Amino acid sequence: MKKDFKKRLLSINRGMVRFQVSMSEYTTFRVGGPVEALCRVQDITALRKLCAFLHIEGIPFLIVGRGSNLLVSDQGFEGVAIILDGELARVNEYPDEGLDIACSVVVAGGGAPISDLISFCRLKGLGGLEFLSGIPGTVGGALYMNAGAFGEEIGSRVQGIRILVGPENRIVEFKKSDLSFSYRRLGIEKGAVIVGASFVLTGKDKDVIGLRIAEYLKKRKKTQPTGYASAGSVFKNPPGMYAAKLVQEAGLKGKRIGGAMISEKHANFIVNTGGAVASDIISLIDLCKNRVKEMAGIDLETEIQIVS
Ligand SMILES: Cc1cc2nc3c(=O)[nH]c(=O)nc-3n(C[C@H](O)[C@H](O)[C@H](O)COP(=O)(O)OP(=O)(O)OC[C@H]3O[C@@H](n4cnc5c(N)ncnc54)[C@H](O)[C@@H]3O)c2cc1C
Repeated sequence: MKKDFKKRLLSINRGMVRFQVSMSEYTTFRVGGPVEALCRVQDITALRKLCAFLHIEGIPFLIVGRGSNLLVSDQGFEGVAIILDGELARVNEYPDEGLDIACSVVVAGGGAPISDLISFCRLKGLGGLEFLSGIPGTVGGALYMNAGAFGEEIGSRVQGIRILVGPENRIVEFKKSDLSFSYRRLGIEKGAVIVGASFVLTGKDKDVIGLRIAEYLKKRKKTQPTGYASAGSVFKNPPGMYAAKLVQEAGLKGKRIGGAMISEKHANFIVNTGGAVASDIISLIDLCKNRVKEMAGIDLETEIQIVS
């Protein structure tokens, strides 16, 4: 990256820029090479300015939430990582008179942690998103991935989302009926930034919400590896099947490459046992794909987003 470019980036983003940042600091796998720069943006004006600049300069960018579904290669990413912060990470309630009296609209910034959204809803006595408890991402990341658990998906609770799109930097509001959510995917334009979303939630007893959250967290603890760095489920479940079962049947539970290991507790998790590099994880992914293909003729597809 040229020196004058660094200066311009610093002035555009009011100093909130770090250069040559290792993505191991910003992903839950704790692996990955450097990005050329990492910018934290505090509001929509700053985001628009930054994206306009990067579009004009032809510099690729990557929106990073909590990095809990991201695997960045050891070579890193030749571009700029953007984190939505400040106003873009807040959660608020907006009473909506057009709705049933028991319902309310909660609006969250794309950078808001899911845990903040859930805590807010619990505090306000608004139920419906408890199933997301324990997912360590942001609202933007969860929407981009159409995150789900226990038979529910975030897409089904959305009222609308706000997206920044294209080199022309348009802000577009999509209603739920305009959006195409599918299994671990939201169909949006490449490079679009999810700036915020609204959810319609139903009034519920706070203690009941609290109990549901505790139940979901307990279930996770029972079935998922804790205490290791990971990015959750590595593969999507093929139709009518479980990826974990296929990997287990291929005899790969506990298999290690370098510092990465297929979890003994949940075979669809790859964990960093300490000192793993991205290529260890990628080698394990390839091994799973090859073995499952040989054994069952099924092509496993990764759920985690691999960036190189
Ligand atoms: C222990 C553990 C358990 C997990 N359990 C689950 C689970 O039960 N269900 C589930 O679905 N997932 C689960 N995950 C995976 C992950 O937490 C979710 O996919 C989460 O929603 C990703 O959010 P994030 O903010 O970390 O996104 P990131 O990992 O940072 O990004 C994921 C993708 O979304 C894009 N993105 C992020 N923010 C935006 C934005 N604002 N606008 C546009 N694009 C954006 C990124 O560019 C990237 O392509 C788990 C992960 C871990 C580590």
